[in-house]
Amino acid sequence: MLERSVVDSLFPADLPEPSHWEEHYPPRELPEGAYVTRFAPSPTGFVHIGGVYTAMVAKEVAHGSGGVYFVRVEDTDQARLVADAAEQFDRAFAYFGIGPDEGGDDPYGPYLQSARERIYLSYVRELMRQGRAYPCFCTREELEEITRRQRATKLPTGYYGSWARWRDADPAEVAAKLEAGEEYVVRFRSPGVEGRVGFDDAIRGHLEHEANRNDVVILKSSAQSPRLPTYHFAHAVDEHLMGVNLVLRGEEWISSVPLHLQLFEALGFPPPRYAHIAPLMKTEPGGVKRKLSKRKDPEASVDFYLDAGYPAAAVLYYLRGLANGRLAELPLEQALAEPIRLAEFGVAGPLVDMVKLADISADHIATLDGPTVLDAVSEWARQRDPELVEVLASERELAERAVDVERVGVENPRKDLVRWSDFRQLYGFFFGALFTPVTDPADERLGGLDVALVRKMAADFADNYSWSDDQPTWFNQIRELAARHGFAPNPKAYKKDPDAYPGMLRDAANVLRVALTGSPRSPDLHAVAGALGADEVARRVRALAG
Ligand code: GLU
Repeated sequence: MLERSVVDSLFPADLPEPSHWEEHYPPRELPEGAYVTRFAPSPTGFVHIGGVYTAMVAKEVAHGSGGVYFVRVEDTDQARLVADAAEQFDRAFAYFGIGPDEGGDDPYGPYLQSARERIYLSYVRELMRQGRAYPCFCTREELEEITRRQRATKLPTGYYGSWARWRDADPAEVAAKLEAGEEYVVRFRSPGVEGRVGFDDAIRGHLEHEANRNDVVILKSSAQSPRLPTYHFAHAVDEHLMGVNLVLRGEEWISSVPLHLQLFEALGFPPPRYAHIAPLMKTEPGGVKRKLSKRKDPEASVDFYLDAGYPAAAVLYYLRGLANGRLAELPLEQALAEPIRLAEFGVAGPLVDMVKLADISADHIATLDGPTVLDAVSEWARQRDPELVEVLASERELAERAVDVERVGVENPRKDLVRWSDFRQLYGFFFGALFTPVTDPADERLGGLDVALVRKMAADFADNYSWSDDQPTWFNQIRELAARHGFAPNPKAYKKDPDAYPGMLRDAANVLRVALTGSPRSPDLHAVAGALGADEVARRVRALAG
């Protein structure tokens, strides 16, 4: 074992003792059974929708138990840091309402691991003083060579037993190397128990996993500054001092639990409860299921949902349904209010189905009133479509009439809006500033009618147009217009002798539809005309008269 003075010489002289941190971070005063949870993202510049899923669950389980939820940014891998990662998280948290209960200067912080360097160092020094951790000078090449030899003899790979070159090295040799300033990492002296370790998972029940035999690295290279711990060590220290008693994290960490339990034990900390969440999956066209991938799937990114403008409530509702199937059966409002239960999670990862999400989103938007829709569209467009924001602000009344078309006063409201980004495409034509009048009578959207006929009809309609609240009365003027210009009175007559007519009533109405909306497909024309107002209707149709 290294002498205490040798160990201490490796750390700042004013580094506090563990007891200092224990006093600084006293146990939380919370009601019996309250969970303290955290979301612990690594700031890699990509926020995965699975992160929103986990954070949502963590926040909710904490709140449901009268506890606390916070976010701890795991930035110990300084090589992977990305400048605007923090803003990305803030954006995602704000949008989905999953921001932390504490942060900044709150008492259990700092909430950024790189700012907790001294805390970790205190505990590394303590383990080294006790001989439960030791410096290791192996180079990358030496480690690769160990792995190669282990593979060649079909042994488990890793740094353990007789392979652990520095585990029981001569203290004098170690001290000399340290004295000479050689680069080292600090490794945990694993108790090296053989066999399997059992533990309880709040989602999966009793689990067993192979014990940890490896002397894992707990403090990274002495050549780096700041000197940061590995995930495993920071996990043990942080959960303990920050009072976390339920760790919700991805299932890829299950195999690390035996190591984590060893670390908690060595540090003298009671371990937290664990709940390992299965990852969000997707089905490939061939039917193969795989994890939603950052590299392959645009929908893996939180920014995808923000940029497309899926309403947060729809996404959260969908994610809750994936977490607990029971919630997918309930109406949105109710499902958002019902608790998520860890015991109801599946062990297999749920499939993310974008078609299903689109349906949910359209259904949800259809329940919102016009002003709410417009506010959400404007908010979405603020950073993405300034022209739209401007138009919606200056033409608010028209906008309200436009969104109400076939939504208000009808039995089945329109479900055309799936995402806020669809708004311009679907409703843009209502606004003069976003609409290009159709002026060419040969325009193919008009269905190939004779150019002179289109002109005449348009002029006739514009000259005689009048608004009526009564749909049949209003539509009658189109019927009469069609008749005046020789269109077949009904489909039957047309089919009998197609050459005798320029087209059917539908074809005549299409001219007006295209003139008013720019498209042969549109919401109910009477409702559109009502929203536009008589002057605008006449103006748009007259644009075709030449
Ligand atoms: N930083 C780890 C990750 O992003 C966190 C895992 C955990 O929640 O403990 O995978």
